[in-house]
Amino acid sequence: MLDADFFRRWMTAAAASVDREAERLTALDSAIGDADHGSNMQRGFAAVVTALEAEATDTPSAVLTAAGRVLISTVGGASGPLYGTLLRRAGKALGDATEISEKQLAEALRAGVDGVMALGGAAPGDKTMVDALLPAVDALGDGFAAARVAAEEGAVATTPLQARKGRASYLGERSIGHQDPGATSSALLVAALEEAAAGARGE
Ligand code: ADP
Ligand code: MG
Repeated sequence: MLDADFFRRWMTAAAASVDREAERLTALDSAIGDADHGSNMQRGFAAVVTALEAEATDTPSAVLTAAGRVLISTVGGASGPLYGTLLRRAGKALGDATEISEKQLAEALRAGVDGVMALGGAAPGDKTMVDALLPAVDALGDGFAAARVAAEEGAVATTPLQARKGRASYLGERSIGHQDPGATSSALLVAALEEAAAGARGE
């Protein structure tokens, strides 16, 4: 079962991973965007960790809704409202349970990804974060490692695609041949779930 501590570990691991990979995310965004994705993610997740240290969050839902709110208010780029929506929608779907199953997490994240697609209008194949998030949610039934692999493969598979949403879409065919920064950061967030689970086992 996954409790509020698991979700706090998820956000802490995500912040550390985004911090380590910030330069890479910004390099990807400089190829097909405006070179701010690394700094956007760093600033957003650092603020999430600070907020979770300051605020009492007793349930998985409270952790995710607080994190989503902070991302929306601290990240100026498109990714802030989108990731904020992912976490807030997932949080809302979890209600007031103090512990949830992995199956419930998968269902909640699916609601979150549906929220991302509704807000941003992106479908699979549009070369966005959706291309990593949706395969991860589909694979989550087979465990966190399977979800990580699916997200990483989804991110890599954005390279030959032409962007149809977000700034990269302004480049038209010139967006082809570059991995999408948001799909790449999504893979980091999904990988952080596995770290949070390992933390519970004391690894
Ligand atoms: P901005 O594009 O405003 O500079 P970021 O650089 O932080 O914001 O994030 C860019 C990423 O956001 C893209 O790589 C893409 O994955 C994601 N993104 C942008 N627009 C959309 C959208 N409409 N739907 C889903 N994801 C999107
Ligand atoms: Mg950008």
